[in-house]
Amino acid sequence: MPYDSIRHEAKSVVVEISRRETDFLYDPSATARVIRALRWEKGNFCPRCKTTAVKRINTFFVNELFQCSACNYNFNCTSGTIFQGSKLPLNRHLLLLMASDLFCQTWSIRDIAIIGGVSERTAKLQIEKRGQPPQNHYLHGPYLSEVRRDDCSSMLDLFERNAFSVDMPLFLDRLRNWLRM
Ligand SMILES: [Zn+2]
Repeated sequence: MPYDSIRHEAKSVVVEISRRETDFLYDPSATARVIRALRWEKGNFCPRCKTTAVKRINTFFVNELFQCSACNYNFNCTSGTIFQGSKLPLNRHLLLLMASDLFCQTWSIRDIAIIGGVSERTAKLQIEKRGQPPQNHYLHGPYLSEVRRDDCSSMLDLFERNAFSVDMPLFLDRLRNWLRM
């Protein structure tokens, strides 16, 4: 599976967007697993004071909670990242950021909001927060002018119908940006 290759980034792995290959776009607990693997790659640390003296205070799968022994801050894998405090399921939040990277030059904010299933206000905020898209794009697909979206009900639907794929090493670099790493 793609996220198992996180520790072997030298590999160039381009995978099609599908439930089998990119489950982290379909299932919020799979998104959390990828985020945790990246963020805690070198062990857990407190996002506030950076100490590694932290203890787990619950084991709830998606929002696994830790407490810092130095400053008492309670945190999970999204604390201090672009995903902190999001009301959206993690996979949909990630898809919204990817849609923003891909279409911010060619689509209106309204269009991005519709395909992301969020309000225009949320779309605008995420477009602003997501930072400059990378030069080498992590999504491979048709030319943007050829992307068919009229009947697409969601970003995943659009990715699937237009046969998009993800360059995993580039994608993980982008995700690191969003995790403020
Ligand atoms: Zn701390």
